[in-house]
Amino acid sequence: MSTDARAAELAANLAAVEERVATACAAAGRSRDDVTVIAVTKTFPAEDVARLHALGIRDVGENYDRDAAAKAAACRALGLAGLRWHFVGQVQRNKARSVASYADVVHSVDRPRLVPALDKGAAAAGRRLTALVQVDLRDHPRDDGRGGTAPGDVLALADALAQQAHLRLGGVMAVAPRDEDPAAAFARLADVAAAVRAGHPDARLVSAGMSADLEAAVAAGATHLRLGTALLGSRPPLR
Ligand SMILES: *Cc1c(COP(=O)(O)O)cnc(C)c1O
Repeated sequence: MSTDARAAELAANLAAVEERVATACAAAGRSRDDVTVIAVTKTFPAEDVARLHALGIRDVGENYDRDAAAKAAACRALGLAGLRWHFVGQVQRNKARSVASYADVVHSVDRPRLVPALDKGAAAAGRRLTALVQVDLRDHPRDDGRGGTAPGDVLALADALAQQAHLRLGGVMAVAPRDEDPAAAFARLADVAAAVRAGHPDARLVSAGMSADLEAAVAAGATHLRLGTALLGSRPPLR
């Protein structure tokens, strides 16, 4: 595909996404300005980030540290101004320092041991990092490193994040379980988010909603949508 054809494809995808988000906001009685679209660019090249940047996208999501670090560096080299990097994948503790060096928001804090690691990484980079607690919305949360932290453990993790000098507790994040109506799952997330806000009024971010379920997420109060395929097209098979 020529460069121009790809730019046109991304512009058309973005227009379709904008239409969906605007419709969902209107249906929920929410302002479009209250919802941020994050383009999840994993497996796609920095050139696509540049094309999306030209279309006005400033929030970019990645889930593998190695790819994200390289892409963030490539985008700096391309001179793309004002990008905010969102790390949405599982954080390995030995990668916390690297993630903290380029990420503005880490969506996937799912265990206590990550907290000091991220704080140290942010301190070393001379940055303040916004961190979200990833909530496991599955019926039977499993400690398999995939789904986040059980709802009952969220407040303790949020308190721990809020106490770090180089971290800012931003709120919560979740992925809807595959075997459930996303509206029901996101309603539980909204309850957890409200409980976190009761103790931390500034922790207002609710990262929920992917390409298939953004409408349900907007209806349930999501502030950040993580959109991959709807914007970029289908990904090559996962490694
Ligand atoms: C890949 C990914 C997304 C984007 O998913 P799509 O269904 O392609 O929109 C969102 N969130 C996380 C955590 C992801 O890993």
